[in-house]
Amino acid sequence: MDLSRLAQLCDSCGEAPPVYRQVYSGVSLCGDCFKESIEKRVRRTISRYSLLRENDRILVAVSGGKDSLSLLKILAKIERDFPRASLVAVSIDEGIPGYRDEALQLAADFCRRLGVEHRVYSFEELFGVGLNDAIGKGLLSKLGMGACTVCGVWRRKALSVAARSLKATVVATAHTLDDIVQTYLMDVLRGEFPKAAIGLRREANGIIPRVAPLRQILEEEVVLYAYLNRIPFQETPCPNAKGSQRDIVRSFLAQFEAKYPGSLFTALRVIESKIEPRSGQLLPCEICGEPSSRNICRACEFERAFSDLLSLSGELVGADVSVDDV
Ligand SMILES: [Zn+2]
Ligand SMILES: [Zn+2]
Repeated sequence: MDLSRLAQLCDSCGEAPPVYRQVYSGVSLCGDCFKESIEKRVRRTISRYSLLRENDRILVAVSGGKDSLSLLKILAKIERDFPRASLVAVSIDEGIPGYRDEALQLAADFCRRLGVEHRVYSFEELFGVGLNDAIGKGLLSKLGMGACTVCGVWRRKALSVAARSLKATVVATAHTLDDIVQTYLMDVLRGEFPKAAIGLRREANGIIPRVAPLRQILEEEVVLYAYLNRIPFQETPCPNAKGSQRDIVRSFLAQFEAKYPGSLFTALRVIESKIEPRSGQLLPCEICGEPSSRNICRACEFERAFSDLLSLSGELVGADVSVDDV
């Protein structure tokens, strides 16, 4: 037997040359076996954590990036086995001209290709102002808030609004293992231990549950999956995210995982084993009615702060005009 040749073939089918070596398991896979292994792992994650039910109406949050388009492709495949389940893809237009327009086009085209209904909800129509407009008018800097903070809170709210209006029973997001560990680590660095596991189905208090079927897939595996499936995705990162806290944590964790494979899996397992089930009741927000741990949810709080600032600047103009009256 030619051993040198054997070592150059896929560990799973033994036929094709490998394209990826899973360092944490020591297995080398060819393109087809790699794609299959990712889809199998997503199915396993869904059943292990009971993320989806066979009659769910699943809203898939689709940004147009590699993660969300890969997730949509995998879920569209899985959904075929569950005739009572249905999919709807939703993109959020934050109002970041150029960057978001390209992504929305990619998302729309890909949904059409898969035969999945696609809807777009915008910050401007939901909250009265787009993100870059808010930045341009100096609203964020006056309130000392980062773009990613406002964007994250509003995106979350926008997805809830979309889910309610489309009668979705669950929201699937494309958070990968990397994303989730980043968020946990950011919580810790800000001085608090994560209060709830991300992307595990939790139904309570009128919340539409959120699930993350890619929670056990590495970012680099998603990139390769998208590439091997020839999924056209947006490669430019969000212009507002550069230098953000998440950006710093992301590059640190990616370097660490490259040097010590398996670290992200370990971190996820250890952190989630220590998360206490969230205590405290969620109540409907006094303004919008979405379940919140505060009287007024953060999304409404930002919306109100921005409109106060805008009307304040309007009043100042009015004050100039009315000087003659005094
Ligand atoms: Zn193979
Ligand atoms: Zn609210």
